[in-house]
Amino acid sequence: MQADLHMHSTASDGGYSPAKLMEKCKEAGLHIVALTDHDTTNGVKEAQAAGKQLNLTVIPGIELSTKWKGKSVHMLGYGVNIEDAAFQEVLEGQRQMRNKRMEVMLERLQGAGVTLQEEDVLRYVDGGSVGRPHVAKALIDRGYVKEVSEAFDKYLGEGKPAYVSKAKEFTPEEAISLIHKAGGLAVVAHPGYYGLDEDIEKWVHQSGLDGVEIEHRDHDPEERKHYEKLTSKLEKETNKTLLRTGGSDFHHEEYGRKKEPLGVTTISGEKAEILLRAIEKRHSSQTSG
Ligand code: AMP
Ligand code: FE
Ligand code: FE
Ligand code: ZN
Repeated sequence: MQADLHMHSTASDGGYSPAKLMEKCKEAGLHIVALTDHDTTNGVKEAQAAGKQLNLTVIPGIELSTKWKGKSVHMLGYGVNIEDAAFQEVLEGQRQMRNKRMEVMLERLQGAGVTLQEEDVLRYVDGGSVGRPHVAKALIDRGYVKEVSEAFDKYLGEGKPAYVSKAKEFTPEEAISLIHKAGGLAVVAHPGYYGLDEDIEKWVHQSGLDGVEIEHRDHDPEERKHYEKLTSKLEKETNKTLLRTGGSDFHHEEYGRKKEPLGVTTISGEKAEILLRAIEKRHSSQTSG
């Protein structure tokens, strides 16, 4: 049994609809998957319906963008209640902020001699969570760049002419709390991107961070070992079982930093089942008071 607990659909910046993405997961030989779109759960229902047809277990998930010490830190939420009105209200606010940010990005691009219309970008946005990859696709369509990665290198990456930081960003601790309040478990995504180990320790000890994404497309074997060790150390210190998750962070075969297809970075079904059981436990403890 194979699982992939990190992927994106057209509800955020992925290239496939939730249903199509689930078909692709099935073809890639996966059994348990989690849809983790940026700042939205709008793709979850469709993914779960498709998963049911395909005999694929689909965990409702999300990836919240946060900022900490000037770094963009992503927090994964698993087993969140997508009907939670307060949670959805917060997400809607983030999406509105993303829309305004996109308008500023287009102005900055104009300043850099690049003309894009809002429609050029919005045609790629299905679930309302607009991000830089959508702008990158529009730049390709208009012939300014050949690839998504080139769009980031030339225009959209941090420090590049059209980079716009998000007006309001959560701290990682706020994101953990939001995920918990929505009934989910919080896992820090691809920690190898930030190197904030001391902060991760603090989030586990003080904010109830539930786990670490150890296997990730962009983690090399050394980093995987490192985060496994860190997680084990934290388990001893807290006397608590932490989650060890992993996944492809798949967006599309052509859009990723690495052009990795589905089914390459996976974790064992056993590890995913630990998450499934932890979600069940969290939900039953919440309903029983
Ligand atoms: P945003 O949330 O709008 O700031 O966009 C962040 C998203 O852009 C990430 O989730 C990735 O999907 C994508 N991304 C960031 N850097 C790169 C890169 N160098 N190449 C391709 N995609 C990238
Ligand atoms: Fe993304
Ligand atoms: Fe991420
Ligand atoms: Zn992701």
